[in-house]
Amino acid sequence: MQMSVRGCRHNSGVQAPETTTEQFPPATLSDADRLAISRLSTSQDERSHTPSPGDIAEVNWQLGRTPRGIVGISARCACGRPLAVKTAPRLPDGTPFPTLFYLTHPALTAAASTLEAAGVMKEMTARLEADARLAAAYGAAHRAYLAEREALGDVPEIAGISAGGMPTRVKCLHVLFAHALSAGPGINPLGDEALAMAIRARLYDPARCQCVARPHSDAESA
Ligand SMILES: [Zn+2]
Repeated sequence: MQMSVRGCRHNSGVQAPETTTEQFPPATLSDADRLAISRLSTSQDERSHTPSPGDIAEVNWQLGRTPRGIVGISARCACGRPLAVKTAPRLPDGTPFPTLFYLTHPALTAAASTLEAAGVMKEMTARLEADARLAAAYGAAHRAYLAEREALGDVPEIAGISAGGMPTRVKCLHVLFAHALSAGPGINPLGDEALAMAIRARLYDPARCQCVARPHSDAESA
């Protein structure tokens, strides 16, 4: 079976195990999960504030490259390290960039890739077509995403285009994870659901730091 075709373009680095959606049944966030996740999203002030050199260095370590166009850190691990960054809708070189929230944390990135490889996105997309209430909530998530991005500036090339397949499909769980963590629970229903699946499967725990320390990080923190 071709597992790689099930993933998004963020999925390339992960060798997916043989899994199916049966291993990741639909899940909802518990009250404890919701509380833990709500603590990870940053304030409007912090996500619009230029990240510190330490944050940039950490993101560089997480991604293995220097990201462009970061305007702030939109979600942080319990330990304070970045989970997701907020990116300008137009990069410094002029390129339109629709992905407002970009997932950076290795444990979360791997968890999203594992769920993608199991076929979770196809199942979610099918449910969107069958469940009007879910589709309406996902449409609202799409509009919330665009509203926060448009506050950073008008980019005609990507007007009305959000990310991750919103508002009618699910094409990237990394995008949905990043939105659910950055916006907090109750905004992106399928992002919340994907996080709940990852938590149930013990791929991620929002109450616990799962960072891999980079060399010399202690000296730069605080
Ligand atoms: Zn951490």
